[in-house]
Amino acid sequence: MRNEAINKKVSQEELSAIRDSVQSLCKEFPGEYWRKLDDKREYPTSFVNAMTESGFLAVLIPEKYGGAGLGLEAACVILEEIHKNGCNAGACHAQMYTMGTILKHGSDEQKKRWLPKIASGEIRLQAFGVTEPTSGTDTLSLKTMATRKNKEYLISGQKIWTSRAEHSDYMVLLARTTPIDKVQQKGKGLSVFMVDMREALKKGMTIRPIKTMMNHSSTEVFMDNVKVPEENLIGEEGNGFKYILDGMNAERTLIASECIGDAQWFINKATNYAKEREVFGSAIGKNQGVQFPIAKAYASYKAADLIVKQAAIKFDNNDKCAEEANIGKMLAAESAWQAAEACVQTYGGFAFAEEYDIERKFRETRLYQVAPISTNLILAYISQNVLGLPKSY
Ligand SMILES: Cc1cc2nc3c(=O)[nH]c(=O)nc-3n(C[C@H](O)[C@H](O)[C@H](O)COP(=O)(O)OP(=O)(O)OC[C@H]3O[C@@H](n4cnc5c(N)ncnc54)[C@H](O)[C@@H]3O)c2cc1C
Repeated sequence: MRNEAINKKVSQEELSAIRDSVQSLCKEFPGEYWRKLDDKREYPTSFVNAMTESGFLAVLIPEKYGGAGLGLEAACVILEEIHKNGCNAGACHAQMYTMGTILKHGSDEQKKRWLPKIASGEIRLQAFGVTEPTSGTDTLSLKTMATRKNKEYLISGQKIWTSRAEHSDYMVLLARTTPIDKVQQKGKGLSVFMVDMREALKKGMTIRPIKTMMNHSSTEVFMDNVKVPEENLIGEEGNGFKYILDGMNAERTLIASECIGDAQWFINKATNYAKEREVFGSAIGKNQGVQFPIAKAYASYKAADLIVKQAAIKFDNNDKCAEEANIGKMLAAESAWQAAEACVQTYGGFAFAEEYDIERKFRETRLYQVAPISTNLILAYISQNVLGLPKSY
């Protein structure tokens, strides 16, 4: 994402101002707002509009394309603050970073064509189609095929877990352009496309929602000879897997920041309740059996936060950050879950009542140990790429 985005350095004061500004935006969207949507599994349109209008979703886009030209550290602060304040950025966070593929690997013409409109929100780039039902984590085995015919590609196949496909104008899609048995390396022969969903839905594309544990606008996307013009191919044909991998560190660090925000939300909620709730004549927080799980969660979140911030700073400095991005994502997701557990236990029975938002946040934060990458695959990364142990797959 960086080549073009020579990011402006942001001071601690500026980061604090961003935090304050996100916090005041979030006040307009209290728990009641999210509960109503959760009940009906509806998309948080007014929250996403407010985020778009505030320019927060365009922070990573360079100024010359209409964004703020800030770095990952600032973007992380925004997502963390959203989650710390009880909101959920999952409905729109992809607008922030999915464009990184175009920014880093697109042609000048493509950048000029799409980035200003993504920055203004005129184009919603919310969908990212990689995962498929039969291949799962084994991305290189994906089966969606893009076949070149004259000046366009015909794309057929199926994606699963494509978040926000119904709320997106475009999807960044990974498909095979050369069959796997015809490439020398499995990682070759895959290509990335910007698919205009509005056009595709007229002919060849069907989106089917998947009802999930939490309100996440998850879908399955079916493609039957969807026509994509050749000018929507990003970078070189056959090198798409590398482009997708390039975006992973940013994505993992950003999602980890959401987990850091969730952890703080649960810890604050649990601490306040433990001070107020009296049982047997004194505050429950007086008991170490209540205190210690919260304190442990706090310690986990603080440690995870350091690694996540280190990942963001390294990323912004163009230093290698895959180790920190992966470890940060895993520890942040675990610390959010630990905090969620502590919060449920502290609230006792009331944790299960919807009106306290705990059960909703509890469901929401569970996701991050599975997506966008599951804990096992991060452990495999550390084992193989950091410790040099043999590859298990
Ligand atoms: C709500 C939600 C939103 C999502 N949004 C998107 C999206 O927008 N776009 C997109 O492309 N994808 C999306 N995903 C997909 C997500 O990235 C995958 O679910 C995740 O990467 C895990 O893949 P899988 O579900 O296919 O699990 P599988 O690959 O089937 O794996 C199942 C389990 O086995 C483990 N496992 C597999 N192989 C190994 C191994 N070699 N060693 C150890 N353990 C292993 C995994 O860690 C996992 O725990 C989303 C998923 C969810 C649930």
